[in-house]
Amino acid sequence: MSKKPLPPLFNYDQLPQKSHIGNGLAGQDILSVSQFNQDTLSYIFTRAREMRQMVRRIGGVDLLKGHVLACLFYEPSTRTSASFIAAMERLGGSVIPITQGVQFSSVSKGETLADTIRTLEQYADAIVLRHPKIGAAKTAADYASVPVLNAGDGAGEHPTQALLDLFTIREELGRLDGLKVAMVGDLRYGRTVHSLTKLLTQYNVSLRFVSPEILRLPLTIMNEVRDAGLDARETHDVADVIENADVLYVTRVQKERFSDLSQYEEVKEHYVITPELMTKAKEKMVVMHPLPRVGEIHYAVDGDPRAAYFRQVKNGMFIRMALLAAVLGQA
Ligand code: ASP
Repeated sequence: MSKKPLPPLFNYDQLPQKSHIGNGLAGQDILSVSQFNQDTLSYIFTRAREMRQMVRRIGGVDLLKGHVLACLFYEPSTRTSASFIAAMERLGGSVIPITQGVQFSSVSKGETLADTIRTLEQYADAIVLRHPKIGAAKTAADYASVPVLNAGDGAGEHPTQALLDLFTIREELGRLDGLKVAMVGDLRYGRTVHSLTKLLTQYNVSLRFVSPEILRLPLTIMNEVRDAGLDARETHDVADVIENADVLYVTRVQKERFSDLSQYEEVKEHYVITPELMTKAKEKMVVMHPLPRVGEIHYAVDGDPRAAYFRQVKNGMFIRMALLAAVLGQA
């Protein structure tokens, strides 16, 4: 049996010339999706596709050889930390991984974020930061002379996740304009929802927000959606959106953000995507989730070709490779 032809080799000659380095991203902090327009997005997506080809063919290159990335995580992480590390290593760079709990760092001795950042920038060319406080990445960026990449600031934003989410939608469905996107679950505290919703306001999409009353999308973000003139509606019921959705973006209830855990108990099992529910969905649509899932998508859905959440995970590495290369001035 003949093998499928392999895509062409990764070609450095096709990369932009110096004057276009990183499409303006070289040396920049990545704090919010508001920094991206359709041009920078399509630039990052093109680079991410090149990274995918390169990884498929040869696994890694030396593009970021000699560069060091510090990964500083004050909150748990699996995908974001692992994919930043994998991204850096596949590009030949290395990582200072403070991802297994800042309790083992000087943070447990009372060191401030400012001092930790001012220390890490002595060793690293860029810093990836996850922190429980909204705005922490901005604070870190104010102190750092190297780029800071926001890997989640409390219930604020998660810009690199939103880039990979948008890229996944584009790759799975071949377009962004004209799509009906339904966000389901914890829209109040879910930072990935906040960032993805803001990014989607740049496209001609319809948005449906499905949540329990206490977990509705924050008004500030809803206002951005309205200002963009998009068709947007809120509902409590997945049944209202399942038949028409092109994208079902499911999220977990963010237990760690509740001050009253009895409220969390009331809403935690509000939505479960099951194979039965999927029989009502379009044949060509995608189910996405930033993960981790804690019961919102039944395991029996995983075999459905529309279940895109693990493909979404893989895209995260390609997007972060593209982003690191751009921010470090090597794309
Ligand atoms: N992993 C994502 C985040 O860090 C989603 C989640 O935790 O629910 O925001």
